Amino acid sequence: MTLRILVVGAGVAGLAAARGLRVAGFRPDVVEALPATMSPGAGIYLPGNATRAMRLLGLDVPLRPLGELIFRQVFLDARGRQLFEMDVAALWAGVGESRVLSRADLQRVLLTGVGGEVRYDTEVRDLEIIDGAAKVEFGNGSIAEYDLVIGADGRRSTIREKVGLGGGAVPTGQIVYRSVVSGGPPLTDWTASLGRRSQFVAMPMGGGKIYVYADETAPDSPNPDDPLKRLQELFGSYGGPVPAILDRMEKVSVARTDEVVLDAWSKGPVVLVGDAAHATAPTLAQGGAMSFEDGYVLGQELRKSEGDISVALRVFEDRRRPRCTEVRERTRERDRTRDVPPSLRDPMLRRRGLRIFTDHYRGLVSQV
Ligand SMILES: Cc1cc2nc3c(=O)[nH]c(=O)nc-3n(C[C@H](O)[C@H](O)[C@H](O)COP(=O)(O)OP(=O)(O)OC[C@H]3O[C@@H](n4cnc5c(N)ncnc54)[C@H](O)[C@@H]3O)c2cc1C
Repeated sequence: MTLRILVVGAGVAGLAAARGLRVAGFRPDVVEALPATMSPGAGIYLPGNATRAMRLLGLDVPLRPLGELIFRQVFLDARGRQLFEMDVAALWAGVGESRVLSRADLQRVLLTGVGGEVRYDTEVRDLEIIDGAAKVEFGNGSIAEYDLVIGADGRRSTIREKVGLGGGAVPTGQIVYRSVVSGGPPLTDWTASLGRRSQFVAMPMGGGKIYVYADETAPDSPNPDDPLKRLQELFGSYGGPVPAILDRMEKVSVARTDEVVLDAWSKGPVVLVGDAAHATAPTLAQGGAMSFEDGYVLGQELRKSEGDISVALRVFEDRRRPRCTEVRERTRERDRTRDVPPSLRDPMLRRRGLRIFTDHYRGLVSQV
């Protein structure tokens, strides 16, 4: 039986799902609301389980020349003194390497994995489940029917809303800042400088560039009009590599993060993947990994069920939910350490940070 499958959204999760389905022998349509010319600007950190999932999707070879490998994560206090360091190469040994690369490069790799077959400028406007099939209305008014629709349309998912899978995106209260800096100080490690309810993370991303991800917890403040000025206010007095990086910084993007927590990820022939199903704050950099794993497992379960969609979706969720819950719980746990005043937190992290932070990833080392 040839299943008619639609993937809504060509972000990381949509392209991974489309690739996972292709590897499993299906040929989904993929639509994306944005034009093809839109290219993501920032970098992305992919820990070992993300690159393992890319291997399972058969996309590790094109990934290998890109960006920069990360062997250590170093945690500093605000004055630039080391609290502890994590040997990420050892943590993910036998799983996969950890890598920082540009999002645009990752997007290109994922796109080659689906043979470039994405219909851009094509928004899904409405969706109805009729007699077990999904009737989809596109932005231009055209209508098509599918046996399976995969909502990979991000944390503010339209598909989730249309099928009534409930639970909107809940703000985490964090404002996040991202920048790519050229000509900064030499940096070989992923390096986080921890402040009070804020952090400044810098990582080498290849080509002499540094990817900066910084955040602050500020649930009631509006996004700053001048994000670079705000970063200087927050982190200008820090030690370590921070001042030299801030000196070279030009463009900063600003956003908010959300959590998505749902009772169910599917309804009839519609299933959610990636941020649409289980977004978290990006503290552990697991959004990409969870999306790749979703794509791989969904494809495998559809193949195993020989086209029985309800069985495949049930097993998919059974396999994926515990892992995504683990990421959410560990993310919340890590984020709680942000609220402890540095005078208490930093001595504790010097003693036990390595164990605590390594434990956040332990549950993700096991097979997908
Ligand atoms: C600041 C920040 C830093 C992060 N850093 C990392 C990191 O270092 N490592 C990591 O692994 N993860 C990181 N993440 C998380 C990661 O970016 C996400 O988990 C991942 O991108 C999820 O992608 P997605 O495809 O589910 O959603 P999205 O990237 O939001 O993609 C959804 C796509 O669907 C399209 N779309 C939406 N509605 C429709 C519609 N109705 N019809 C058609 N198309 C539609 C959108 O245009 C979009 O292209 C970070 C997240 C943030 C916010």
